[in-house]
Amino acid sequence: MTASQALTRLQAHEMAARLRAGEVSSTELLEAHLASIAATDTAIHAWLAVDEELARVAANAADKRLVRARADGAEALAALPSMLGIPVGLKDLVIARGRQATAGSRILEGFTSPYDAHSVERLDAVGAVIVGKTNMDEFAMGSSTEHSGYGPTANPWDLSRVPGGSSGGSAAAVAAYHVPVAIGTDTGGSIRQPASLTGTVGIKPTYGRVSRYGIIAFASSLDQVGPLGRDVRDAALLLGAVAGYDERDSTSAPLEVPDFAGALPADDDKAAAALRGVRLGLPRQYFVEGMEPGVEARVREAVVALEDAGAEIIEVDMPHTDYGLATYYIVAPAEASANLARYDGIRFGHAVRDGDVLANYKSTRDQGFGPEVKRRLMLGTYALSAGYRDAYYIKAQKVRTLIKGDFDAAFEGVDALVAPVSPTVAFPLGERLDDPVAMYLVDACTLPVSVAGLPGLSVPAGLSDGLPVGLQLIGKAWDEARLLQLGRAYEAVTATARWRTLEPADLGRAADQATGAPTLGI
Ligand code: GLN
Repeated sequence: MTASQALTRLQAHEMAARLRAGEVSSTELLEAHLASIAATDTAIHAWLAVDEELARVAANAADKRLVRARADGAEALAALPSMLGIPVGLKDLVIARGRQATAGSRILEGFTSPYDAHSVERLDAVGAVIVGKTNMDEFAMGSSTEHSGYGPTANPWDLSRVPGGSSGGSAAAVAAYHVPVAIGTDTGGSIRQPASLTGTVGIKPTYGRVSRYGIIAFASSLDQVGPLGRDVRDAALLLGAVAGYDERDSTSAPLEVPDFAGALPADDDKAAAALRGVRLGLPRQYFVEGMEPGVEARVREAVVALEDAGAEIIEVDMPHTDYGLATYYIVAPAEASANLARYDGIRFGHAVRDGDVLANYKSTRDQGFGPEVKRRLMLGTYALSAGYRDAYYIKAQKVRTLIKGDFDAAFEGVDALVAPVSPTVAFPLGERLDDPVAMYLVDACTLPVSVAGLPGLSVPAGLSDGLPVGLQLIGKAWDEARLLQLGRAYEAVTATARWRTLEPADLGRAADQATGAPTLGI
């Protein structure tokens, strides 16, 4: 491994320490990561835009601040912002001034954002270096990143398989050492599921924890921004950066943000102690039909490891789990049908001008939206139409309350829930593309959590057939700090597991392909 590659293997919190110590510069870190992208992204296609020059300007500014602080002494160093000089990827659903914002859709091709999302303002405030925009399913609708209007992303563990979605670009970029951390969004599983399928850590915060200002809207009552990283401490660092009240999002919660990263011990013994006496609920209904035996085995082994470390495991019933999918696929498309009405060929991006106003509108949307988005808009419009609204939309909202009730009841007896993230490992590209329901089913274990607005963390829990399996920890509202503590504890008790030492198996192959023609484009 070259010195440049070795830099990309550091965790963000290690980078932060080295930057302060003057052992590495932000520019060196950035160049190492840009080289990593250049080496493997032809094959992986995690990025829709790499903004090299903007990133170089930010890295250079960070280096100047670091030099000055080192000259001024320990106090000045301690006062530096948490992510100063650290490269970060941004899902292309999050808008940033002067950068493209496509939401993975052709309908927004060529659109440049005039302002920053709240999350981007926060990233700037903590000194992070935004490397570019990552690939995603169009408007975050999907579980494989195959619904991107710009071609799919491949999984660094096996290039013939999906990285999950919709934040598949961010997950693959983190897994492939293109960036140590990246921002994703999760409406029904889009951070947790790709984290699970790429062996990375991802957290969907409680609804309202992170502002939705500047997030291109999919389903507004479900959308949340969250971090992906290669360990729990890095996910905590990035979550801490973007969380917090913002008056421009009326659903943003006016709550204190705990020091998520600061609360996590570096020492494994100390970290593991968080498990002693903690009550973890294991929901029977989350071991869904069709779950791969290898996935179930890894999750059950993880539960045993948690128990051995002192957690009390209590089986719980969540009787409405099964309705999560049906509820979500009424509520989310309904909200999407309203949110996506604004793409009319007049205000944003792609525009067709071949007739009168109505003809232009129809042609723009017909050409600009892909098949999955059209499917959702049809479904959502139908569910909201006169005569059907009560039967579908209102009914779904009532079932949503029942699902939330399952969680409320479970949390009376337990501190957190432990469950699978995805019933399968990463599946082959193309396998589920023509079967929307098969695609929807991969989110069976993440959707209920989103519908209830609760936080969920996905942490790697080993491999099945050489592919990553994730473990989901689900918390009470606003209990992200505890979830991160439990996730960190699980890392600690499995610190010596052999699978933790393995790198994504197809990184070498991805590098070999960089010189050839792109092999994706199915
Ligand atoms: N896969 C789910 C969907 O297609 C969830 C996507 C998301 O969380 N953005 O809607």
